[in-house]
Amino acid sequence: MAEPVIRCILLDIEGTTCPVSFVASVLFPYARERLASYLETNHADPEVQALLAATQAALAVDPNPEVQALRQGSPIPGHQPGGQEYLQAAQTNSPLVAYLQWLIDHDIKFPALKELQGRIWASGYANGDLIAPLFDDVAPTLHRWHRERYQLAVYSSGSVAAQQLLYRHSQDGNLEGLFSHWFDSRIGSKQATDSYSAIAAVLQLDPAEILFVSDAIAEIRAAHGIGMAVRFSDRQGNPGRDPGPFNAIQSLAEIELP
Ligand SMILES: [Mg+2]
Repeated sequence: MAEPVIRCILLDIEGTTCPVSFVASVLFPYARERLASYLETNHADPEVQALLAATQAALAVDPNPEVQALRQGSPIPGHQPGGQEYLQAAQTNSPLVAYLQWLIDHDIKFPALKELQGRIWASGYANGDLIAPLFDDVAPTLHRWHRERYQLAVYSSGSVAAQQLLYRHSQDGNLEGLFSHWFDSRIGSKQATDSYSAIAAVLQLDPAEILFVSDAIAEIRAAHGIGMAVRFSDRQGNPGRDPGPFNAIQSLAEIELP
């Protein structure tokens, strides 16, 4: 039987097209450091007020003992690193800022926080503070695939808005227009097989016509589970680099499409 023709290339971002370090060491700290000043400057914006109200509501009912300490303005028990800093943030800014920073540090997904981070990143990209680094092979390969009429799509746990900002402000210029579809965790977890079925349905393609590239073995396994073609992205600087039974690539340029 002939190998099915690939029509769409579905790409993870972090660890696949963009170094993990940009997200972890640049984007997240950038938003964290600017939370207080951003909220101060934009406090009157009704949308920001709504996000703060949602944060306040979550803070009021968060059962975590550390959060209860924050709420009472007392030091976090156990002197965990950063505890003093949260207390200071709670005293000088507001318990809300301290709580948002605590959520970031504990990698807790919270929609209002995600939205605020997105707004801070948007202003950082717009004023030139932030430029997304991509691996050298990414822009030329995306342009080639686009010329060759492959559909290009993104699937990343960062919000679609954040994905578009990143490709709009890349070191290789604005690449946003090369992609036709954008998926984030609203379609489902990247480790769940159902998410890949849902993506194939949106793309109106048979899973075998889609090639998914990611550095996370659980994601590769889920996509492969419904019959997508897969490649494991083994980039310099990625934490887990065991491809298991899957084909590994170190550059998108290595990919040969049937
Ligand atoms: Mg990744």
